[in-house]
Amino acid sequence: MSGGKGAVGPRIRRERRTMAAMMRIYCRDQHGGDEPLCEECAALLDYAHRRLGSCPFQELKPACSHCEVHCYSAARRERVKAVMRYAGPRMLWRHPWLSLWHLHDKRRRVPRLEVRRRS
Ligand SMILES: [Zn+2]
Repeated sequence: MSGGKGAVGPRIRRERRTMAAMMRIYCRDQHGGDEPLCEECAALLDYAHRRLGSCPFQELKPACSHCEVHCYSAARRERVKAVMRYAGPRMLWRHPWLSLWHLHDKRRRVPRLEVRRRS
């Protein structure tokens, strides 16, 4: 498939930005990291970015918390959930625009996986 780097659309790129912003908030407060993130958070972010790159929904992607395709391994999923729980509410102040987009995404219907069969 067309899985090269940089092949993702604006939707996925925005998700990546949101994810990176959340990780920065979390890492700075919890681990004293920031720019760059601590090693652990950098690895988690890298993983999340790769998962987004191979999300079968791509531009139709629902909010991850509503998605029925559990593409994260159980352990990573727990870690990312912790990051979101912590950074989510704080995002509103630092990145209001990204937060609003995220709320909007949460209201969108989860598409059926048939999208994938488009070739
Ligand atoms: Zn960290």
